[in-house]
Amino acid sequence: MSWERIIGQHRVKQLMRRMYESNRMPHAMLFHGPEGVGKDAVAIAIARTLNCEGGAWDPCGSCAACRGIAALRHPSLKLIFALPSKDDEHSAVDKLSADELDEMNQQISEKAENPYHRIRMSKASVIKVSSVRDIRKEASFRAGKGGRTVVLISEADRMNSSAANALLKTLEEPGGDLLLILTTARKDALLPTIVSRCQSIRFDPLSEEDIRDGLLRERDLQRDQVDAAAHLAAGSYAAAMEMAREGGLLSREEVLQYVRDVVLNNPVKLHARIQGILGKEDRQTLVRFLVSVASWFRDVRALHEGAPGLINSDLREPLEKFAAHYPDADCTRAVDEIEHVIALLQKNVHLATVMIVLSHRLRSCIVPPP
Ligand SMILES: [Zn+2]
Repeated sequence: MSWERIIGQHRVKQLMRRMYESNRMPHAMLFHGPEGVGKDAVAIAIARTLNCEGGAWDPCGSCAACRGIAALRHPSLKLIFALPSKDDEHSAVDKLSADELDEMNQQISEKAENPYHRIRMSKASVIKVSSVRDIRKEASFRAGKGGRTVVLISEADRMNSSAANALLKTLEEPGGDLLLILTTARKDALLPTIVSRCQSIRFDPLSEEDIRDGLLRERDLQRDQVDAAAHLAAGSYAAAMEMAREGGLLSREEVLQYVRDVVLNNPVKLHARIQGILGKEDRQTLVRFLVSVASWFRDVRALHEGAPGLINSDLREPLEKFAAHYPDADCTRAVDEIEHVIALLQKNVHLATVMIVLSHRLRSCIVPPP
């Protein structure tokens, strides 16, 4: 990952460059901000800059360190993420089955190909102590080899308490050439003692424009698709990639069906639909689903007002039918209701209940009670 492939994040890039050029790169940094905005990507780029034989801010891209780090297979970059493991004590990688190793290598390759890819292994939700424990050993082994070893703990909020405590020990006595970078979308889930020992760097959501430019540069995509994905991704490049991927926007078919079930007022069908939406998704995906539902109502409002341009231009036909059928639908209130629920999802709420209440409120926006 070289710097020009990092999407947006100009403030962060400048800050990193100043630290690098004044030789003030700290021992530990915490990159925090929404998911999919490039925290891991920036960490990988730093590892290249610090270890490239060229010795300049822009890595040469061709030396052994540049190539090895870009492939995520180089001793100067240690990537730590949640792994499946039956017990907490033994080395997390040693204990993996052949299938799990395959899956891990597949995930690493995807991440190397695209640093915005979020590593996900089945049955792995926790970063275990065994993944964190060897950091110090590795640091002393590597000392004096030139460059700087970067340890990237991706989604650091997934560390269990023994992993967090082991990391704390490392943070208390930082090794000479070691640079620890923790990334998280949930800073408040980390131990305050860990947070206070790292230099916090905030990452902002990306602008629609940056996301659009990134998608057009990296992928062979249609303009329509890119515009809709950039809008619906709410600042996350990773989310935009998922949506722009072939078939990714098809999930909007689910939006269409959901809105239909809401107006049909068939409780059994509606509950089944909600269970279906919740069953296979995590909270983040539910947020994206709701952002899509909100964009549906924004488009209906645009049609009512005769405004030009639709977010979901490929759904123009069903949108026009809907807008004509419900000329009095209160779309502004519907969008407000959805945004209220999106805010609620950041808290610990019961998803099914929230979705059922929302569905009833949306119905009253579309079909006012007599
Ligand atoms: Zn290089």
